[in-house]
Amino acid sequence: MKKVLFAAAEALPFISTGGLADVVGSLPAALVKKGVDARVVLPLYGTMNEKFRKDLVLVKEIEVQLSWRKQYCGIYKTEHNGVTFYFIDNEFYFKRDSLYGSFDDGERFAFFSKCILDIMPHIDFYPDVLHANDWQTAPAVIYLRCNYGHIPEYQKIRTVYSIHNIAYQGIYNLGTMGDVFGINGWDRSIVEYDGCLNLTKGAIVCCDRLSTVSPHYAEEIKTAEFAHGLQYIINESSYKLSGILNGIDVNYYNSEIDPEIPYNFNADDFSGKAKDKAALQEELGLPVDPDVPVVSMITRLVSHKGLDLVECVLEEIIAKDKIQFVLLGTGEANYEAYFRNLEAKYPEKVRAIIKYDKTLSKKIYAASDIFLMPSKSEPCGLAQMICSRYATVPVVRETGGLYDSIRSYNEFTGEGNGFTFTNYNAHDMMYTIRRAMAFYRNKEEWNKIMKKAISEDFSWAASSESYIELYESIF
Ligand code: ADP
Repeated sequence: MKKVLFAAAEALPFISTGGLADVVGSLPAALVKKGVDARVVLPLYGTMNEKFRKDLVLVKEIEVQLSWRKQYCGIYKTEHNGVTFYFIDNEFYFKRDSLYGSFDDGERFAFFSKCILDIMPHIDFYPDVLHANDWQTAPAVIYLRCNYGHIPEYQKIRTVYSIHNIAYQGIYNLGTMGDVFGINGWDRSIVEYDGCLNLTKGAIVCCDRLSTVSPHYAEEIKTAEFAHGLQYIINESSYKLSGILNGIDVNYYNSEIDPEIPYNFNADDFSGKAKDKAALQEELGLPVDPDVPVVSMITRLVSHKGLDLVECVLEEIIAKDKIQFVLLGTGEANYEAYFRNLEAKYPEKVRAIIKYDKTLSKKIYAASDIFLMPSKSEPCGLAQMICSRYATVPVVRETGGLYDSIRSYNEFTGEGNGFTFTNYNAHDMMYTIRRAMAFYRNKEEWNKIMKKAISEDFSWAASSESYIELYESIF
């Protein structure tokens, strides 16, 4: 097994809205270091930064047929961290203000998925494994199985389909199957689920291996509580399902050399972190106080991030305890309003920054003492790993990848790299935040906990090996 083509809707550093971009931006590079010829294909969005756009080289211009439509497909490429990235250009589909959320998302990503397969002869790269990620590239797995079986070069390609979040499945009216998605009537049973066309279900049926982003989440999605209706098909496919914990790019998130934080620091000397804290307090207009614990959240403001627990008890903690709370996030209007109101009510203790800002996020990761992630479900979660890289101690609920990556601190054995709670319960969360803040007051003990957090290995070293084993297991 030598050649892998990653297909995804986003990847760092080119374009990102969430954790998927972190993974697609770093896993291929880790595989290349291990001798795999891993390449990536992405849409060329209108919103991609000019600084990357100017380095793109045109490979070829072709036309791609999907259903009755024949459309322009420009193939561009560039190299980053030793990985070749291909970009699919079609301004009609991808020159939009945002990546997702258009009425024709299904058609846009069906076209992208068709291009993933049709560019192969033109880039002179038929992979051994096509690794598709999430519903936007699910049609590529379906088309390969249903429509390309008669072409010898495509017959040899095996597929891995990774679920990064099962909540987003690509569900459409069955009436769109032929016209929009170009799926033949006789393949209806592959994509039909619960009376709809479900792209994720189709890819689950067609793929050779199914993976998800943590071992615990792989178990959770077998149950109705987590599977958003797909539990039956996941259980049917459990023979080919595995969970591999994501890593992060430990050079990009590195407190020792990160150019985006004011002061660098490492596990032997946290004095830079104290200065980062003072700098952030100053920048945000909070009282500059080294002794008050700064608790932060950096998150999409959607309900599965545990925000109803936060709404239930955070104000009580803020009113009674010595604490500063910083939120960076955007999302559902009710949560944005909740945090804005909290800031208005407690201007000396709370900052709610309602935007998406990568640089500010790093300053907050570096400056905080405690990072809160009380998710209801969390396929893997990256923020708990990122904060640890900056010696900010995570407080998490034991679900999905949070369960696999953070172990609760045990003051008797010195084991653990954060604080955790089991039940999705607001007062359990409150107790755990207070437990962490109690340790924070004991400087010597807290230093030990910070060291445990920053010393945890969240690199791709182990997980990239697991992916290679997964690819090899198909042949
Ligand atoms: P998800 O993929 O569900 O959004 P993850 O924890 O896996 O959650 O990944 C979230 C990523 O997005 C992290 O890198 C986090 O720092 C980043 N992020 C989330 N919200 C913001 C924001 N408002 N500004 C900057 N970065 C953000």
